Amino acid sequence: MQRTLVVPNQTCLELEQLWAAEAPREICGFFLGASTLGHVLVERFIAVRNAQAAPDSFAISDSEMRRVEHLSRSTKSAIVALFHGHPSGQTALSPRDEESFRSSPWPWVIVCRSARSSSGDLEFHLFDQKT
Ligand SMILES: [Zn+2]
Repeated sequence: MQRTLVVPNQTCLELEQLWAAEAPREICGFFLGASTLGHVLVERFIAVRNAQAAPDSFAISDSEMRRVEHLSRSTKSAIVALFHGHPSGQTALSPRDEESFRSSPWPWVIVCRSARSSSGDLEFHLFDQKT
């Protein structure tokens, strides 16, 4: 079943700021919140340092992963998805993304600028694990 990702306005604003600060590198991090059958409800996100220098890729170090897991536990807020940005505007997972996604325990979200928006609003594409 196709699920819907719900992103608060405030989170969108913060992601815009992160996008601008990281450009031209891809933003990456984790959404925390609640996951239901039909929806992924985002409450906040934790940005992680992109360990990859190349502009079209991302990687998350073990220490960053431990920091996110610790924050998730201490705030009693579940990790609901891993996100990263595609400055290219590509809305699908890249072949390299596909490979990592298959062994990932979380849904993935691709963030990109919407081609449908003249003001450059962000678009969110949710990819759930195949079961
Ligand atoms: Zn990607």
